[in-house]
Amino acid sequence: MNPDHLPDLQQALLDWFAEHQRPLPWRRQYHPYEIWVSEIMLQQTQVKTMLPFYTRWMSELPTVHSVAAASEEMVLKLWEGLGYYSRARNLQKAARVICDEHGGELPADFDHIRALPGIGPYTAGALASIAFNQPRPVVDGNIERVLCRIEGIGEPPKSTPVQKQLWSLAAEWISHGHAREFNQGLMELGATLCTPRNPSCLLCPANAWCVAFHTGRTDTIPAPRGRPEIIRIEKLTALVQNGDCWLVRKRPEGGLMGGLWEFPTWEELPSENSAAAWLTQQLHEDYGVAARIGPELFKMEHDYTRFHATLHCRLCTVAEIPSVPPDNAQWLTLGEISELALPRVFQRLRKRLLDEASA
Ligand code: SF4
Repeated sequence: MNPDHLPDLQQALLDWFAEHQRPLPWRRQYHPYEIWVSEIMLQQTQVKTMLPFYTRWMSELPTVHSVAAASEEMVLKLWEGLGYYSRARNLQKAARVICDEHGGELPADFDHIRALPGIGPYTAGALASIAFNQPRPVVDGNIERVLCRIEGIGEPPKSTPVQKQLWSLAAEWISHGHAREFNQGLMELGATLCTPRNPSCLLCPANAWCVAFHTGRTDTIPAPRGRPEIIRIEKLTALVQNGDCWLVRKRPEGGLMGGLWEFPTWEELPSENSAAAWLTQQLHEDYGVAARIGPELFKMEHDYTRFHATLHCRLCTVAEIPSVPPDNAQWLTLGEISELALPRVFQRLRKRLLDEASA
């Protein structure tokens, strides 16, 4: 874009944002803690999905100190359903650093923000600009699309040279003194008008300067990504029951969905003929129980990142619960299990068991 046009573009975007921004709770006061939580929740998640989680989180954990002092169980439970649980764990780690090293206030210094656990270049830029109105650039998926279209960049936006170009454009264009509104204006434009399909160009404050609009290329810019290959996996889940109680285990810390609870599950599926013997042995070795293995009850399907998983669920009954529960496992009722943080597929599984019990 001709640099002479930049002031007009900035003003048009600021005016549009002032009039059309969505009234989101963290925009009322621009409190740094609220901006931080909202930005972490918005990674990989749309506003309308995260809003109920945000509201619940803020009512339970209204300050940085309360996050630092909360149990990990509580933090994960409040995050349950949002996915990408490392975001919640890092939020708590960062809250503890903020309490230990910054007196419980999110630091305004960019390098200090960047050094917090879970804060990458995007989030650091978003916090510095939105919470503290500092002229720091941000480039997320929405801004990427807006910048590519205005500048007519047809190369894949994730390529290294284009990423460099986009970050330097975002830095050049930022409106000093109005960084908070300018960056949010770009984000809001990408989220509401400059959508991936059928952008509303006639309503757009940037249409006078937009190359993609004027050359009829809004459907080819940004260049579409190749579809990632979906990997299919089969798992075996044991629904181990003793009366009203079910065996659940806590996933190991540090791994995928670490710290969340699940019904015992193995990432392999023995053949139908050998499944009962295999499961009998696994339950004995891993949980110290002698179980009677039933047939497959049902399957649960779920998708996460690049995986499509099928859980083959077998009912296993146990006549006697060992007096000492194995490490990281518990026998709980379905009501008690609902108090734990579970990955989404196991929430569905718990509900299904509850529905079948009351049918
Ligand atoms: S004119 Fe259309 S394509 Fe260009 S930035 Fe606006 S909404 Fe996006």
